[in-house]
Amino acid sequence: MCRKWFEDIDVLGISNGSIVIYLEEDVQLNYLERKCKNQFVEAAQIITGHLLGVHFVNTRELDFQVTSPQPFNPSGYVIADGAFGDMLISPDYSFDNFIVGPGNQLAHAAAIAVSQKPAQAYNPLFIHSGVGLGKTHLLQAICQTAMQSNDSMKVYYVSCNGFLTQFLESVQAGEMSDFRHKFRAFDMLIIDDIHDLSNREQTQEEFFHTFNTLFQSGRQVVLSSDAPPNEIPHLEDRLISRFSCGLVAGIDPPGFETRVAIIKKKAALRHIDIPDEVSNYIAARLDQNIRQLEGAMTKLQGLSLLDGSPIDLAMAKTALSSGSGLKDAPKHVSIQDILDAISDFYDVKLIDLLSKRRNKSITMPRQVGMWLARRHTRFSLEEIGGYFGGRDHTTVMHAIKSVDSKITLNDQLDQDLTRLQGRLSLDKD
Ligand code: ADP
Ligand code: MG
Repeated sequence: MCRKWFEDIDVLGISNGSIVIYLEEDVQLNYLERKCKNQFVEAAQIITGHLLGVHFVNTRELDFQVTSPQPFNPSGYVIADGAFGDMLISPDYSFDNFIVGPGNQLAHAAAIAVSQKPAQAYNPLFIHSGVGLGKTHLLQAICQTAMQSNDSMKVYYVSCNGFLTQFLESVQAGEMSDFRHKFRAFDMLIIDDIHDLSNREQTQEEFFHTFNTLFQSGRQVVLSSDAPPNEIPHLEDRLISRFSCGLVAGIDPPGFETRVAIIKKKAALRHIDIPDEVSNYIAARLDQNIRQLEGAMTKLQGLSLLDGSPIDLAMAKTALSSGSGLKDAPKHVSIQDILDAISDFYDVKLIDLLSKRRNKSITMPRQVGMWLARRHTRFSLEEIGGYFGGRDHTTVMHAIKSVDSKITLNDQLDQDLTRLQGRLSLDKD
């Protein structure tokens, strides 16, 4: 249903610094406004390189002035045609545009190998990393290179959620055999964010069979995830072992040199002039992921357009000043910060949090702490268990599951989490 909503939208133009998007139904409007606004804004800014907003409307009788009468056509993303009409691929996500550094060297080399010799190098190729470190970029580069080098090769790139949606739609429509037929006909299947399979038992089952069919008939499978296979919560063991049987390559955050090189590459792609001292300044201050760097560049680009002056160091200092939201978020939080916040917030002693005691007044805060640690740090389940009094990873997994299952039902917990994340200066989503 939601997919249809996205197909129905119509871009009317740009008005007052916002892209105006028309939607037929109130429910569509409300849904997109509530759930998707940030993603739309982010996409609009990344694609155009301008500080654009997004404005959803449900009337074509515009009561504001549309400055661009032509439908807005964000050049950049291509939707692959033919049999695979639903692939959304960015031509910018190519190997040429990917900067290689110590943190991503292995993943990059493996991606090149797989795109050149599908099913002969590493199968499956499983790439994992924290957010914004280049997984989607590499996966799409594999997809494009493989398609370019062999016309007859059937390559399919899809997000795990896209796969899930198609699966559920097929189940509802009673068209499972079409679904199977479609997926099992690919020479190369690339699924992004496979961790979204966690907790989806039925789809895990289907995916397992699809995977086996492809794998056994010598097709290439490429997957990405926010964690290595054995740390994806609620993933069936047989999938863990399938995912781990080829090459598992992690991407670590880029070092300073790589960050500078990435800023330069992105600046060239966007045709913006960024002096060396500015790229050094940004790279020195933003060190968590590449989306942050891109956010800073978008902001600078906006400031420069606004002032009508070239980007310089003073402008970069303004862009990154506190309150800009760039430097502070997403913040790195340590497990110690989380333990301190939990101990203070729930008024439990640290020593009790780390103890074997199982009173509810202690287990609940402990579970919340593990949940926060999983969500906001890059530690593995084992490591989190270690910090929380030497517990094993299944205990941590259970804690996360338990908090997840209560969030929607328990307003109090929801509020607690919001406050705790506020205290730790973390974003809730
Ligand atoms: P992930 O899928 O891991 O969350 P993405 O692939 O979406 O991350 O990357 C976020 C942004 O950073 C993208 O615009 C991507 O092009 C860019 N990026 C990531 N790694 C690199 C790199 N090594 N060189 C150039 N750009 C990169
Ligand atoms: Mg991604």
